[in-house]
Amino acid sequence: MDFSQLNKARAKSFNDQKALLKKLSKGQTVLCTHCNQPVLLDLTGAEGTKGSAHCAKGCTHIALDLM
Ligand SMILES: [Zn+2]
Repeated sequence: MDFSQLNKARAKSFNDQKALLKKLSKGQTVLCTHCNQPVLLDLTGAEGTKGSAHCAKGCTHIALDLM
């Protein structure tokens, strides 16, 4: 398969997010790579969403429908 640089970066980021969510779901602490604050699992998202994982400052924000 022949992916462009952009697709490689996207795939890596997607896999990173999946790995992060996997750690969180096991109860492990994950620190935001930007602000070093713990990334928290928020399952009380707005109606119609599955919640999200985000750090206190919001620089990491992952919608849980990625899983
Ligand atoms: Zn952050």
